[in-house]
Amino acid sequence: MLNFGNNQMTQRVFSGFRPTGKQHIGNYLGAIQNWVSLQDEYDCVYCVVDIHALTTLETTEALREDIYEMVLDWLAAGIDPEKSIVFVQSHVPQVMELHTLFSMVTPLSWLLRVPTFKEKVKMQPHNVNYGLVGYPVLMTADIALYKGEVVPVGEDQLPHLELAREIVRRFNSLYGFVFPEPQAKLTSFPLVLGLDGVQKMSKSCNNHIEIAAPPQEILERVMTAVTDPARRYRSDPGHPDICNIFRLHKFFTPERVDEIARECRRSGIGCVDCKQMLAQSISSALEPFRQRRAAVIAKPNYVAEVLADGANQADAIAKETMEEVKEKMKLLQRAKLPVR
Ligand code: SF4
Repeated sequence: MLNFGNNQMTQRVFSGFRPTGKQHIGNYLGAIQNWVSLQDEYDCVYCVVDIHALTTLETTEALREDIYEMVLDWLAAGIDPEKSIVFVQSHVPQVMELHTLFSMVTPLSWLLRVPTFKEKVKMQPHNVNYGLVGYPVLMTADIALYKGEVVPVGEDQLPHLELAREIVRRFNSLYGFVFPEPQAKLTSFPLVLGLDGVQKMSKSCNNHIEIAAPPQEILERVMTAVTDPARRYRSDPGHPDICNIFRLHKFFTPERVDEIARECRRSGIGCVDCKQMLAQSISSALEPFRQRRAAVIAKPNYVAEVLADGANQADAIAKETMEEVKEKMKLLQRAKLPVR
C-alpha cells in the first residue's frame, strides 16, 4: 500500500465526483481518463462526494447503487487503488467537522456571490437549503482535509477553487499555517455533447451512452442521434462541422475523420453508414473497459474492499489534519484532557 503520510515527495491531487451511477462517455472523456493519467504523476485522492449530492437530490433511493456502479466504472477505467485513494466522502466524517470550522472563517458574502449558488436557486427554488450556500465550504474542507495541493479543474470551475484558496488563506492567517493553498491544474476537458447534439451529455437529459453499454445498445443509442439537420436526403451534401456524430468520430475514429468529412460533404457517405461506423468505433474502444469491468465484478466484494481500504487511508490523514487544526485553533481536545 502506498505511503500517503505527511512526508510525501509527490504533490497530492484531490478530486471528487457526485455519485451518478454508471458513467457515460462524457464522464470518461471529460474526467475519468484524466484521473487515470494523473495517477502516474501525483498521489491522487479520488472521492465520491455523496454529501454534496444531498444538496440537490430529491430522493436517496438510488444513492447506494449509484456509488457502487460509479466506483465500479472508475476501477474498470483504470483508477488503480494501489496508486490512488478511492473512498466515499461520508465514510470520513471529519470532513463535516472541518466544514463547520471553515464556516466560522468564511464571510457569508463570499458564498452568496458564487454564480453556481445563484443558478441552483433558480433551478430548485422549492429547495434552497443551507447546504447549497455552504457547498463551497464543504468543497474546501474536502480538499484541505487531505492537504490537497493540486485540483484538476476546467476553466469554468476556477472561481470555486479561488474561493477555496481564500478560505484556506483566511484560516491560515487567523490560526497559523495548516493548509497548502490548492493550485488549479487547468485541464481542457472536452465538451462532449449528448446524442441530441445540443446539450452536454448527461443522464438527466437521457442523451448519453454508458461506457459499460454492450455493442448492440451502443448501436441503438447512436442510431437515435441528431446529425446535420439540413441533410434531409442521402444525396444532400452534409456539414460535418455542425454534426455531433462527426465530433464523436474525432474522439473515437480519429484516423478517419478527414475521410469522413470529405465523404460527408460530397454525399459519398450516408448518415446511417456514418453512425454505424461510429457505433463500431465506440464499441471497439470500450471493449477493454467492458472486459476489465467484468473482471472486477467477478471478484466478490472487490468494490466494497477498495472503498473500505480507501476510507481507512483517508481517515488516517484526516485524523492528523484535524488534530493539527484543533491545536492551532486552541480548541480543548478531549483526547488531551486533563490540561492542568
Ligand atoms: Fe454527420 Fe456523418 Fe451524416 Fe455527415 S454523414 S451529417 S458527419 S452523420
